[in-house]
Amino acid sequence: MITISGKSVFGGVSIGKIMFYKRNDKVIKRTHVDDVDIEWKRFQDAKDTAVSQLKGLYDKAIADVGEANAMIFEIHQMMLEDLDYLESIENIIRTQEVNAEFAVATTADNFAQMFAAMDDAYMQGRAADVKDVSERVLDVLCGVDGGMKEMDEPCIIAADDLAPSETVQLDKSKVLGFATMYGSSNSHTAILARTMNIPAVIGLGEDLLAEYDGKMAVIDGFTGKLYIEPDEETMKVMQEKRQKDLEQKALLEQLKGKENVTKSGRKINVYANIGNVSDVGAVLKNDAGGIGLFRSEFLYLENTDFPTEEQQFSVYKQVAENMAGKKVIIRTLDIGADKQVDYFGLDKEENPALGYRAIRICLTRPEIFKTQLRALYRAAVYGNISIMFPMIISVNEIRKIKAIIAEVKEELKSEGIPYRDEVELGVMIETPASVMISRDLAKEVDFFSVGTNDLTQYTLAIDRQNSKLDPFYDPHHPAVLAMIRMAAENAHAEGKWIGICGELGADLELTEEFLKMGLDELSVSPAMVLPLRKRIRDCE
Ligand code: PEP
Ligand code: MG
Repeated sequence: MITISGKSVFGGVSIGKIMFYKRNDKVIKRTHVDDVDIEWKRFQDAKDTAVSQLKGLYDKAIADVGEANAMIFEIHQMMLEDLDYLESIENIIRTQEVNAEFAVATTADNFAQMFAAMDDAYMQGRAADVKDVSERVLDVLCGVDGGMKEMDEPCIIAADDLAPSETVQLDKSKVLGFATMYGSSNSHTAILARTMNIPAVIGLGEDLLAEYDGKMAVIDGFTGKLYIEPDEETMKVMQEKRQKDLEQKALLEQLKGKENVTKSGRKINVYANIGNVSDVGAVLKNDAGGIGLFRSEFLYLENTDFPTEEQQFSVYKQVAENMAGKKVIIRTLDIGADKQVDYFGLDKEENPALGYRAIRICLTRPEIFKTQLRALYRAAVYGNISIMFPMIISVNEIRKIKAIIAEVKEELKSEGIPYRDEVELGVMIETPASVMISRDLAKEVDFFSVGTNDLTQYTLAIDRQNSKLDPFYDPHHPAVLAMIRMAAENAHAEGKWIGICGELGADLELTEEFLKMGLDELSVSPAMVLPLRKRIRDCE
């Protein structure tokens, strides 16, 4: 048995086989070829194989996700037959007398750059597609398999680290747990594990070897340990621990339907955070009073192109309808920093967390923002939707947002499309600037929601992605608590409500303090709703 220690991200015990997340690690070199005809033929064969793979994917996707969503694989086939694309590859092979791999990689880069530089958002989205199809051809040429193996049974996913875009694409019904070499507990992958109610350990380091692929393992999400090929004794202890955890959860079940009220009668709303329509089941199952944060950017992360207004409308409508009149707070697009989406064509930045992200993208690319706002205002007809905006630093941003909202409403009205006129608007308090001007911001909006993950990062100057900084990271730092208190006082002074939707809201050691500060709502991962309810009910 091998024991590896890391950091726990989410409690619980999971037992199953390890599946190593395989990323493509092809190295494309430029090599001279003597016979360019043979090389061109080698490319054509690889391209034909890629096309037939895409045909297979198209058929599978039609059955799984319907024709509209399967279209992308047909478009990809067409891209591989595009005359300009083929001409460029043939030219490079023949004139430079080089290998097909180099010609494909160079053409892919050139075409992707050309698409990314176009003004039209749709064409910019093609940059990711051309890279994607070229990767497929390169896989065939290099004889490697890309991505994950098919999982026929639920597995523990092991990886060096997982990007949010990789995590959202996993088949969640087949994931027993996550075990990663690197990563930090405030990363979005960790947040996803919590939302999905999946035991996870991170920071296992170099001891987590790819050769453990296929071996039996146990994740103890309470202690942050991973056992590879556990011995009989450990297996027995872990099975008992798992059983106890399940019993504890069953006890919490009894709190369903009960109020979130302290012994002295102070009430507080407990809502849940989601990233996907499929999380709504967990929200209802855990009896949350509403959705305090719907991270809408996951919709963008799951797609290979900008989700259309109709796609977004149908998702927001479905969430609102499923929540049947309970509050659903949808945060507008928060792309950037660790949440990268190829088709946005964002430049590489020195300091992405301090860079072009969230509302900054929305205000400078209003066509993207307007599509989302149209979908939100239309969906608001079907339930109790509120909208909130991330990374706000100034009152002026709110005024600009309001001007864009007015335009969107005017357009919907003139097109005769139904929408809700009055939608509650809020800002995320996640920058020190927003705290310092919270009195002025409170005059402009209906509510605040404190994003403690980013507020802590920006207040303490500690990159939330950098696990090396863990020794310096104090989630209970007095500066962060003072910030939350100040925002609460200012919200209340203007008669507005305030909640917390960052991970700190689920920190049961702070519940009492948050109640004293007068917070009106705490929004946590669905699995934390009942433990938090219990904690609130135990408070004086
Ligand atoms: C936060 O910053 O606390 C937050 C809730 O937003 P995200 O974690 O998605 O950045
Ligand atoms: Mg944030």
